[in-house]
Formats: sequence, structure tokens, C-alpha cells
Amino acid sequence: MTKKSSARGPDLVLQDERGGKTVYFRPCRMPELPDITVYIERLEALVGGKRLEKVRLSSPFVLRTFDPPIREAETKRVTGFRRMGKRIVFELEAELFLVIHLMISGRLRWRERGVVIQRKIGLAAFDFSEGSLLFTEAASKKRASIFVVKGEKALAPFERGGVEPLESTRTQFTEALQRENRTLKRAMTDPRILSGVGNAYSDEILFHAQLSPVKRTRQLRDDELGRLFESTRTVLEQWTDRLRNEVGDGFPEKVTAFHDEMAVHGRYKKPCRVCRTAIQRIRLASNEFNYCPRCQTGGKLLADRSLSRLLKSDWPKSIEELEELEATRPAVAAPTKGRGKQAAAKSRATKETRTKNRAVEQTGTKKSAAKKRAAKPSAPRASRKRATT
Ligand SMILES: [Zn+2]
Repeated sequence: MTKKSSARGPDLVLQDERGGKTVYFRPCRMPELPDITVYIERLEALVGGKRLEKVRLSSPFVLRTFDPPIREAETKRVTGFRRMGKRIVFELEAELFLVIHLMISGRLRWRERGVVIQRKIGLAAFDFSEGSLLFTEAASKKRASIFVVKGEKALAPFERGGVEPLESTRTQFTEALQRENRTLKRAMTDPRILSGVGNAYSDEILFHAQLSPVKRTRQLRDDELGRLFESTRTVLEQWTDRLRNEVGDGFPEKVTAFHDEMAVHGRYKKPCRVCRTAIQRIRLASNEFNYCPRCQTGGKLLADRSLSRLLKSDWPKSIEELEELEATRPAVAAPTKGRGKQAAAKSRATKETRTKNRAVEQTGTKKSAAKKRAAKPSAPRASRKRATT
């Protein structure tokens, strides 16, 4: 296990085995709206209207539903695609939907038809007559998922409730943001508030809007809210255009949250592009955010103890907690109908406690956590189930 420190990103390096050789995966971040949009555009171009011939699963765990069986998707024509938050939805004939969540390390690759699924990182392959779409995940702990559901209504559980940043009005945007009094960074990355935005683009948006990541949403003045609304659209549109141009008529191969052209994200200690002040970074467990202390926080460095406390009360403490936010409890597996609000709240509370406990466990050294992962490359079925129920 090596520990690499770089200005570009987190230190954690996951270890895996391939052909007897140890390989190190550079940690990456969850693909966000611009990445997902470009994936979908290229999928439309490559397999839109085409027949899905075969689905090959290399990991049984990646499939989180059993009814309808995934075999039902075979021989169906792809009628379209849609994005739901950070998920990609394949729309097939007979109102069948394949819902794919890449989570942090999941990626799609376009390869020659029938390509062998790589051991360790390969999850599944979708074969079309023109080629195969490979679903990979370069991480020891597999979090990416495929759900198969039938009928529009069955898609409802995948809706996290956040407003669409490019489709909402300023009023809808403001209402969503101020429903709770969160720190801006937290609000911008919460899928229940805003759809499709994560760690990387929230950094970029807050820099563009010249707002502090720890300002509370209900403390924003009207002009600040206006700026944030505009910056959200501008940054997401500009980055989607940029990625679209990079990919051209190919397929996205280097989906990462770190781009040299970014203003603050992954630019710790580098000079701000506007004022030349060194970009600062705050790290909390697996999260980090980057900001310019002159452009965004009036010269204040956000590093004191009270800030830590403030953030700790408002911020996911671990990948697991982030995962909880992203995870879906599909109606097919969990009959939630008829369950009272109280029961639902209770179960949420239990879940939070559980997550907290896990977060505490996680605060041990990264080394020991990594060792555990290396020793147990496939997590027990029970813990996998938890994400889906
Ligand atoms: Zn600056």
C-alpha cells in the first residue's frame, strides 16, 4: 500500500490484483451531471434504437433486483436514455428500464462486440451487434449497481427529490436550497436538494458565484441567491460543452473529477486563476472541498476548530454516508407501502446511527481499512443488501 499525496486529489490508493500483478487505482470521484450527460449522448448515438442482444454479468452482486429478470432485457430494442440524478437509465421496449449507478469508480466503456470482461474490475457487458458496452469498477469494494424495473412507476424510488439545476426556475432552486439551513457545500451536493451535482462541480460553482462553501443557505442575500442560480447553470453548461467537445464522436474514456482547466477543484495550493491566492482545501473523512480564500471567503481561512465542528454536524462523514444519500430503496425489494411516517423516520434514524458507527470504524488508519478490503475483496452479501433495502 502506498500513500501518494498530490495537490490533485485524495491520498487513498486502492489495491487490486490483476494477473498476479499489483495495480494501484487512482481514486476518482463520482461522475456528475456533465459526465452523465455526455455518456448518455454518446450512448444514444451508438446504441439508440438498437437491439440489446445479450447481457453478461461477471459479478452477481452488481444486479440489485431479481424481478423482472435481467434476461427479459435481452433482444429488446433501446428506445431511449435518461439521467436520474447521477444515474443512467436505459429505456427498453415493453417499458423495461435498466438503471445504472456508477457510484464513485464505476465507468462505462465501448469495446468490440463480445469483448472479454476483465477479471476484478469488470462488472457486466451489454452486447449489441455494433459493439459491447462494458461496465467496470476499479475498486476493491464494489458499489456500482444495476436495477431492472418495469413500468414508469417503478422508476419513482430512484427519484431523490432534488431539483434539476438546468431545468428549474430560480424560485424552485431557491426553495429547494433553503428548505433546510445547510452549509452551501452540503446543500449543493445533496441529491435530495439538487440533482446531479457532486463534490467537483459544487466546488466550481461556488467559486464561480464567489460564495463561501460554509455559508448557510438561509443566510444568503437575494443577490447571492441570484448569483448562485446563474453560476450553477453556467458552470454545468460550460463543462458539459467542454466534455462533449473532448469526446467528439468517440466514447468517454477518461471520466474523472479532476481537470486541469478547473478553477478550484483539485487545485490545492495552486494560484487562484482570478487573484493568484493559493487555493485552500478542507478535508473531512472522504470528502474534500477547495476554495479561494480571497474570492470566496473574504480572506478567511476555513480551518479553525469551530469550523470543523460546524462542518462535522452538516457533512457526510464517510463514503458510506454519501452512499446512503445516493442509494435507492427500490419498491420491488422493499414494500414500504402502508408504512407509517413514524416507522419510516425510525428506520431512517437507525440507518443514520448505523452509518455513524461505520464512520467511526472508518476513522481507523486508512492502512488497516485497506488491508481489510484487500483481505476481503468481495463484501458479504448482507452488507450489499443493506444498500438496496
Ligand atoms: Zn481568488
